[in-house]
Amino acid sequence: MKDQSAQNTPAEPAVSNFIRSIINEDNRTGKWQGRVETRFPPEPNGYLHIGHAKSICLNFGIAKEYQGVCHLRFDDTNPEKETQEYVDAICDNVKWLGFDWGEHLYYSSDYFDQLYDFAEYLINQGKAYVDSQPANAIREQRGTLTSPGQNSPYRDRPAAESLDLFRRMKAAEFPDGAHVLRARIDMASPNMNMRDPVIYRIRHVHHQRTGNRWCIYPMYDYTHCISDALENITHSLCTLEFEDHRPLYDWVLDQLQEKVPCHPQQIEFARLNLTYTVMSKRKLIELVESELVDGWDDPRLSTLAGVRRRGYTPRAIQLFAERIGVSKADSWIDMGILEDCLREDLNESAPRRIAVLKPLKLIIDNYPEEQVEDCFAPNHPQQPEWGKRSVPLSKMLYIEQDDFMEEPVKGYFRLAPGAEVRLRYAYIVKCVSVDKNAQGEIEAIHCTYDPDTKSGTEGAAQRKVKGNIHWLSASHAQQVEIRLYDRLFTDPHPDSGGKDYKHALNPDSKTIIHAFVESALQSAEPGQCFQFERNGYFVADRIDSTAEKPVFNRAVTLRDSWGKAAK
Ligand code: ATP
Ligand code: MG
Repeated sequence: MKDQSAQNTPAEPAVSNFIRSIINEDNRTGKWQGRVETRFPPEPNGYLHIGHAKSICLNFGIAKEYQGVCHLRFDDTNPEKETQEYVDAICDNVKWLGFDWGEHLYYSSDYFDQLYDFAEYLINQGKAYVDSQPANAIREQRGTLTSPGQNSPYRDRPAAESLDLFRRMKAAEFPDGAHVLRARIDMASPNMNMRDPVIYRIRHVHHQRTGNRWCIYPMYDYTHCISDALENITHSLCTLEFEDHRPLYDWVLDQLQEKVPCHPQQIEFARLNLTYTVMSKRKLIELVESELVDGWDDPRLSTLAGVRRRGYTPRAIQLFAERIGVSKADSWIDMGILEDCLREDLNESAPRRIAVLKPLKLIIDNYPEEQVEDCFAPNHPQQPEWGKRSVPLSKMLYIEQDDFMEEPVKGYFRLAPGAEVRLRYAYIVKCVSVDKNAQGEIEAIHCTYDPDTKSGTEGAAQRKVKGNIHWLSASHAQQVEIRLYDRLFTDPHPDSGGKDYKHALNPDSKTIIHAFVESALQSAEPGQCFQFERNGYFVADRIDSTAEKPVFNRAVTLRDSWGKAAK
């Protein structure tokens, strides 16, 4: 399965799925005259996460594919929890992912007048009534999945009385909770959503866009379908938990068919569930507020602000969305698939650089004391046109501690006493001795080099060694801060089975080290990604990295060590 999908990059034709089949069929029958109009409808009450990215890529992607348009609509009917900060962050995230809503930026609050007029219309049609019972009485009368609900004593109050009360609700004559407006559908419906749902409630709160103009606010189910219809949406894509709400979506639009321009089709798809992370807004807020992570853009979080800072690229996320596809059945996607998409993108797009994360000194005994010579390293092994850069070699180097073993195990081809390796882009060296301190710890290793084996020369072609390690000249290397990020949780399902997800926090999800990098990295732009040869993919932190004090985050290792661990 993996091999097949590995070839499916966004540049290639998209694989078919049930949503594309529906649209193709609509285009064939002329249902929408070939029009495709979708929308992404976030509520501005939190930061977007990778699950939202699935919905964004789907809605904007489908629209683009069919030369249609996709709207960005803020579903802002819950003023207590919504802020401009979230609106701005959401706009920023969608743009960053590479999508453009053009002139199609909307807010449900723009429709408050129309939503109100439609509610009066429903009252006049006998399709809505004001219920004056307290919330708990309404709840108790709702019934259960196995027993029908009971009619409210106000259900048959005359339309004129409901209309009068509804107008007075709007005119701020009543406190919160005194009355609600309910759709008049069927208290015995097997679908609980159809048991006379509340469609308006009184809330004396300031709204971030409409200020104090309103003290009654429409409910999500009522607002959403009407907003879709007013915007001429053709295909309203949402997650599976709304499947049971579809009859209500359709009911409202059926009642208003003379009032709204069209009746969009609601189509449900499975939400993204990703292992080793949490995505519920409540848990994300808790992680941030209890300082278990370093803010909304902590690189370990599944927020888009977080994955961006981690080094994820829009292309990797689009590739991921295309690869996981859409289906009608809930399932779990392994974090390894997301990470592989990033590797795949960065393998192509990230320049190669050298960093030594856990330095060990290597002294070339027979190398002239003051000599410095240029070695040339390709910026990308498959992109010769990206050129090469000079990496200086001198007598004293740093190599990785892991590239030396005093007592090598079987099959270890790197440095060991008496063994030979190639210093990448330079010479073959042979380990001749080891310096230890009083505690017996290794402080440096001594080698000799063979001057006839420089990479790219005739002599190099004649001498083959198995080991090939990276290095940096000690006097030229720059010391920088590197943040080694790993998965935030050690449990693939941190929040399932009634467990407290906080118990599964990975204590090693963030390790800060001071490591050495080549001086070419001094000019890294914040947000720029690199492959540090043999060490993984890293990004110059977009917030903290400066030319004076570069900071790099590990985006992802070169290979998936978690997959192996799980086996
Ligand atoms: P809440 O439960 O607070 O409403 P939400 O995650 O549904 O949170 P919204 O702002 O309503 O947040 O989501 C906007 C859109 O993103 C919705 O259409 C929703 O279905 C979709 N979406 C949210 N989470 C996911 C997910 N994990 N996978 C796919 N789509 C998602
Ligand atoms: Mg929602």
